[in-house]
Amino acid sequence: MHPTLDQLLSTLNTNQHQAVTAHPFSKLQIIAGPGTGKTKVITSRVAYLLLDAKIPPENIIVTTFTKKAANEMIERLRTMLDNMNLDKLMIGTFHSICFRLIMRYGKPLGLSGFGIADERDKEFYVKEILNELNAEERELFSGREGEKFKGGGKTSLEPVLIPGPVISLISSLKSQGITSDQYSQSPSKDKCLSLLYSHYQSKLQENRVLDFDDCLLKCHELVSKFPLTNIEHVLVDEFQDTNEIQLQLMYKFGTNVTIVGDPDQSIYAFRNAQVINFQKMIDYYQRQNQQCSIITLDHNYRSTNDILIFSESVMKQEKERKSKQLVSQHTNDFGSPIYAQLKSEYQEAKWIALQITTLLSLPTTPIHPQDIAILVRSAYQTRVIETELNSNGIPYHMIRGKAFWSRKEVTVMMDYLRIIANENDRVAVLRTINYPKRGIGEKTLEKIDEYLKLDVNHSVYEKLRFAVQGGVNLSSKVQSNISKYLNTIQQAKEKLDALRDDHTKLPELFDFITSEFELTKEWEPSQVENINEIKKLLSEFTPPSPDDDIPPKNILGQFIDSMGLNEAVEEQKQSRHAHYKGQVALSTIHGAKGLEWPVVFVPGLSDGLLPSIMAIKANTQEAIDEERRCLYVALTRAKLLLYVSWYVEDGDKEERQSWRMQVTDPSRFIEFIKNKDKKTGLVHIFRQKDKVKSLYEILGKRCPDFDLDEFNTVYKEKMNSILNPFNPKGIVDGCDNGADKKVGFQSASDVIHTTQ
Ligand code: ATP
Ligand code: MG
Repeated sequence: MHPTLDQLLSTLNTNQHQAVTAHPFSKLQIIAGPGTGKTKVITSRVAYLLLDAKIPPENIIVTTFTKKAANEMIERLRTMLDNMNLDKLMIGTFHSICFRLIMRYGKPLGLSGFGIADERDKEFYVKEILNELNAEERELFSGREGEKFKGGGKTSLEPVLIPGPVISLISSLKSQGITSDQYSQSPSKDKCLSLLYSHYQSKLQENRVLDFDDCLLKCHELVSKFPLTNIEHVLVDEFQDTNEIQLQLMYKFGTNVTIVGDPDQSIYAFRNAQVINFQKMIDYYQRQNQQCSIITLDHNYRSTNDILIFSESVMKQEKERKSKQLVSQHTNDFGSPIYAQLKSEYQEAKWIALQITTLLSLPTTPIHPQDIAILVRSAYQTRVIETELNSNGIPYHMIRGKAFWSRKEVTVMMDYLRIIANENDRVAVLRTINYPKRGIGEKTLEKIDEYLKLDVNHSVYEKLRFAVQGGVNLSSKVQSNISKYLNTIQQAKEKLDALRDDHTKLPELFDFITSEFELTKEWEPSQVENINEIKKLLSEFTPPSPDDDIPPKNILGQFIDSMGLNEAVEEQKQSRHAHYKGQVALSTIHGAKGLEWPVVFVPGLSDGLLPSIMAIKANTQEAIDEERRCLYVALTRAKLLLYVSWYVEDGDKEERQSWRMQVTDPSRFIEFIKNKDKKTGLVHIFRQKDKVKSLYEILGKRCPDFDLDEFNTVYKEKMNSILNPFNPKGIVDGCDNGADKKVGFQSASDVIHTTQ
């Protein structure tokens, strides 16, 4: 056997070993809980296929849930495989693999050179469609406004003529693999939806873009018509979050299929993911007389036993589920999760900041900011926490979410990059032409848009030039402003050409655009910081290796496509900097999928936050179960120390963001805490010398030579200025009785006061 492979296999346990080397199994499901090494197994299996079975990299497809996961896997493989050339390995999210296949083979379907339509573009197109409906079509909708209607088996409770619900219904149809032609022929179709769906597809086609769902749907059409003949192995990570079209794609990609997943971690039903895919896969192959083997893994290598027991206490509340207690491979425990009940989100944020300051101030502390993550259910919850981290001087990195990409300054910047990269991007032109203000009124903008839509033989950019030269009746001021705008675009385009696809120079182009279009002038420092993030992304961008079969786009176009693919799935860009050096990670739970940190905070365990108010209002078992799994995912990200907290408000409006509903109860998921022994992890660790030592060891730091009493004295002195963790009262307020509820601390100074 190959020596590298030998070494690699020796690190696996028996079941993992079997899962990696399961050669005779051509259909394999690896179903196992968090931290059991599923992702490790997939990575090792790819190495095994390359080295032992000598499968060429281009004959393997690996799908991961995030781009970061794909990058990490490649890095690990490169190290394992002595820098073997893996450029041709088809690895990435379903969407990026599909987009690549479309770019490569999509010509017969008329799909070459397409771009990606992001969320705002989709909304733009649907609005345009709703405005362009002719009288006869309008008739179809009469009386429909505000009415409930059905689509794709789902019932929308929203009115029809608003882009949002139209977009999500079309998306739902697409994720079930239903094309607009198929839907229009379905006897149970909704006529309005069918009409909108087909107009929508024409709109995307006219503008030469694919939306995110199309990447999958069109790719399915492509591989159905022109099967991929070379693919020998398909491996899918995070299978529990695949939807129908992804399942169908997986069948089409190749015949040897390995999937790994954990039904307990399925948290994407809202995006049409379906846990039933595990069973569907078995049934599908059975119908073809093919056996699907199942391997389970039950050793957890990530978390301590205390953390696993706590997480299981949450999950076992799910009625239909069989209890599954994972066994930790850690020989040390650092105490049960630390928990606290606070009186408001502000106090909770203060509590978190205090805990983090405490951890980071330990003498020669083994914990660094990058070892810590704070995971929240909804992105808006980070706001208050961010303020508190800032005022305590704790460096943090907001793992970028959808919110980042929808910020005004970020969308403007991306639009400017788009108009430079692609002279046919009408939508981006319309959005940038009057930002910053160039004196163009609403009516004039409409006239310009009409003109831009007219003649297909010229680029949007050329048409705008004609418009200024008399095609559209414009005031001389507007004429001159648009001319200046066009000239600057021209100069930027020349700069782009001059780069000759040298991606390292992209930041220079960025500087040129921001200064020449005077973009930063109107922005506040935090906004400038946000667009500098884009500059950072540009400087880090490495284009995919050239592919002879793909007609090249310019380097900026490639950057935009890759961001577009990231952008549509929040998590893909989120996890990019999950372990940013020297910074605490702040993320949504969805963004933390598959990741791990030594120290994890899960705040906001109140009814209305987790479970979310949406789930509570939906009032279905499925909605609540999904929220519970979400909490389970959060808790199981922790390796060594876990902090959970919640708040219960007493109706004082000052204490909460005005638009938010009052939170009155701890989360239903943590009711079991009532009966638990209230000890704190920190107290636990520092009472035992070997625990302190092992904490250092696990975190890869040399443990300072210390005498426990002395250590504790020094530690106490240090901590007394912040918070005394040796007296759990005041830090930990459980919720077993009413008196405790009243205790909740008021401010940092109060805590110091009550604990000394
Ligand atoms: P999740 O469900 O959260 O995605 P997972 O099952 O994919 O988890 P991994 O991320 O692959 O789990 O592994 C969790 C941690 O355990 C990683 O740090 C990994 O390196 C480690 N690990 C897995 N298997 C072993 C092993 N046999 N020996 C040592 N460490 C291991
Ligand atoms: Mg994993």
